[in-house]
Amino acid sequence: MQFNTYTVAGAHIAVWLVNHPAPEPPELTAALLDHDVHEPAATAADALALRPWAARLRAVFEADGVTAKAELADALLIAADCRPRLVSHGTGQPFHFHYAPVATGLPPRVRALTAAGLAHVIDDGGGSRLGACVRPGCDVVFLDTSRNGRRHFCTLRCANQVNVSAHRLRARTR
Ligand SMILES: [Zn+2]
Ligand SMILES: [Zn+2]
Repeated sequence: MQFNTYTVAGAHIAVWLVNHPAPEPPELTAALLDHDVHEPAATAADALALRPWAARLRAVFEADGVTAKAELADALLIAADCRPRLVSHGTGQPFHFHYAPVATGLPPRVRALTAAGLAHVIDDGGGSRLGACVRPGCDVVFLDTSRNGRRHFCTLRCANQVNVSAHRLRARTR
């Protein structure tokens, strides 16, 4: 699957929100701008309004198996009142999806965009790529963009820590 489309950007933003559950408004704005979200300027109230949503997004990444992830993501589409529309910003400008009207404000748009992003990844067969780091004590989530899609850790650092402790355990039990 392609990971650089605007639709999948919603999944990247979902990852960011889960990993930054209490962002400062400028951080949130920068993250949205990174993914070409329209009118990304976030207020403190916007950032606060998205906190419970980040918790709901997290459940998708942590759910066991694609079926559970799909059921949760489907529920998010409804909760976010996600209604795709084809929009162009002027004559000759490309048409693209908006998942909630810009007039609804930033939090509803981010909810709809992130729900659509996760749903799109699952629709494209990438549900197992919505993952959470398996190192105990690490709560980082990710969209696995690797070729084989077998990522288990957020970073090499977490993978190494687990490998080191497994090695120590083996050494002790010998
Ligand atoms: Zn647009
Ligand atoms: Zn980790």
